[in-house]
Amino acid sequence: MKTLLHGGTAVSGTGMQKLDILIENEKIVQMQPHISAADAQTVDCTGKLLFPGFIDGHTHFDLEVCGTITADTFASGSRAALRGGTTMVVDFAAPDKGDTLAYGLSRWREKAAGAACDYGFHMTVDDWNEGISQELGEMLEQGISSFKMYMTYPAMMLPEGDMFQALLRLKELGGIAGVHCENSGLIDALTARARKAGRMGPASHPQVRPAPLEAEAVGHLLRMAQVAEVPVIIVHLSARESLEEVRAARRRGQTVYVETCPHYLLLEDSVYSNPDFLEAAKYVCAPPIRKKEDQEALWEALANGEIQTVATDHCSFTLAQKRAGRYDFTKIPGGLPGVEHRGQLLYTCGVAAGRISEAQMCRVLCENPAKLYGCWPRKGTLAPGSDGDVVVWDPAAEGMITVRDQAQQADYTPYEGMRTKGGADRVYLRGTLAVDHGQVLETAGVFVPRGKCAL
Ligand code: MN
Repeated sequence: MKTLLHGGTAVSGTGMQKLDILIENEKIVQMQPHISAADAQTVDCTGKLLFPGFIDGHTHFDLEVCGTITADTFASGSRAALRGGTTMVVDFAAPDKGDTLAYGLSRWREKAAGAACDYGFHMTVDDWNEGISQELGEMLEQGISSFKMYMTYPAMMLPEGDMFQALLRLKELGGIAGVHCENSGLIDALTARARKAGRMGPASHPQVRPAPLEAEAVGHLLRMAQVAEVPVIIVHLSARESLEEVRAARRRGQTVYVETCPHYLLLEDSVYSNPDFLEAAKYVCAPPIRKKEDQEALWEALANGEIQTVATDHCSFTLAQKRAGRYDFTKIPGGLPGVEHRGQLLYTCGVAAGRISEAQMCRVLCENPAKLYGCWPRKGTLAPGSDGDVVVWDPAAEGMITVRDQAQQADYTPYEGMRTKGGADRVYLRGTLAVDHGQVLETAGVFVPRGKCAL
């Protein structure tokens, strides 16, 4: 099957060019100003932007949290992803403490079998021993090249000595770690004080996880990485003060990659002071949503290239699930839905608002995550030989984000009522039409084995 995308403007990380794109047997085979292919199905893309399929490097589908399970499975989450132009996700495989990594990986392979978009896995390292050290090498051989570690959450965090050992082992193997940075001990102490004072509503959530405790952990990790002499990824960086720590490490000559998320770019912590419990609980996630000044700092860092990628940390729960924390904010399952709207949010508030260019959007949603997570140039670029993952983007589209029109399974969206500019008209997954004007068609995602970081 041949598809010719005709008359559109192809976007890359360096600019835009009017190019026809010919896709055959899952791959882009030709890109030229004018291609004639009588045997191809021709799609008129006049006036449209052609982006490489977006990559979301941070999703949690089918994950057990707080005694419940995320509203989105791989089947529903991947369909929502495609609807917004995301053709690949990298989800977090997580063995329980005491399990082997191999067991964790096999569980995630089963969960992901019904995915409609392509996928890879980060592997969570929540325990450290000789067996896991050995297994890291086996993970890399199986195309798992990035690893997640936590500095908070008792069930998942690693003591710093173990984290340091893991960083050294990853250096030896050529893997890379993404780390959740928040100071666990002080969050526990602040939570205990909130409990004692009877302040157990969602308004306490950002108060017990203040920005300096993220920045402190970022600085702590970056000093470990300095001694280990390894690059690291700060996932879901949310605060201006954390950026200061990153800048300090970069000035020392360290390589640090930064991911942020749409909710940190677009929302403010006043959401937690809503007296309606569910209205506030909706937004509970960690790190929490920050202040206007943090937002501004993140946009500036995104525009000047200090932030490499924007991922969603999609971790969706229904309002009924959020209700579990009605009398205790620590029991609110943490996480926001977002996998469906990332492209539209970044285009509306970034490109259309004049904060970033189309090329920058391409870098943070496509090129950088593909390079960072070792699947470039198969993914993340429009080029002959790359997978035929293409988003036919209508820059003139206008719409509104609403729960009444979303494929992701949460019964709310943090962006309800937001007016949007731009949207995916069509989405191709390895040459197959996966989304046609909002309608998600039947596609089957494949596991994408990944190699070493190339960013
Ligand atoms: Mn996460």
